[in-house]
Amino acid sequence: MRRKIVAGNWKMNGSKDLVQQLVGSVRDQAGLLDNGAEVVIIPPALYVSAVKAEAGSELSLGVQNVSQWQAGAYTGEISAEMARDVGCSYVLVGHSERRQLFGESDDVVADKLGQVLQSGLTAVLCVGETLEQREAGDAERVVATQVLRALARVEGERWLQVVIAYEPVWAIGTGRTATAEDAQAMHAEIRNVLSSMKAPAESISVLYGGSVKADNAAALFAEPDIDGGLIGGASLKAEEFISICRAFPAGA
Ligand code: PEP
Repeated sequence: MRRKIVAGNWKMNGSKDLVQQLVGSVRDQAGLLDNGAEVVIIPPALYVSAVKAEAGSELSLGVQNVSQWQAGAYTGEISAEMARDVGCSYVLVGHSERRQLFGESDDVVADKLGQVLQSGLTAVLCVGETLEQREAGDAERVVATQVLRALARVEGERWLQVVIAYEPVWAIGTGRTATAEDAQAMHAEIRNVLSSMKAPAESISVLYGGSVKADNAAALFAEPDIDGGLIGGASLKAEEFISICRAFPAGA
């Protein structure tokens, strides 16, 4: 049985006030969920401890990025081990904003993913094509290449610390989302790529991200290979985020 996950990526948004307003109410509602979904909050790293203080056992925590190095003279960086130390279970790796704005290559993404797995945390590997690549008919090849390169060094039990988030770049923060059918097709393809790598493809959760909202989550989560969502903008509004967490089909 794959983990069902809804993870809220706050990006560079938030404040002590937002933590106070949002996290308690998400926690209370998450405690009432009866669909088995794990709810994860991924705030800016500076707020992890404040979120943890409000989160109780109902919510899991993550960070948006860690260093590709283990420790030492890397001013401004935080390590995967530090994320573990302050109570995180998840780390986003290779978000398209990191790839595009901070020049993270597939090699850097693979190194970061290695650090996350070595620390015992779960890596949420983000992959996705640009609009140009999709229109050129290149989406599947681009995504497959990102998966293959990031996960090339993963072996054995470590696979169970991997979650993939398929996030078409053209859908992130744009209000445009992939149709449930298109997203399902890419998720099935990602599972094929995982199988070709001898990974336990049927046990690895593959999330969809890109303008997921309360009104489109149910259609996406009803697809057989979509195991939840990585949510940006909508994770900053408690009611909207909780509606998304409730959107799994009954009995799933
Ligand atoms: C994201 O940041 O991973 C994301 C999917 O953002 P949004 O939901 O705002 O498109």
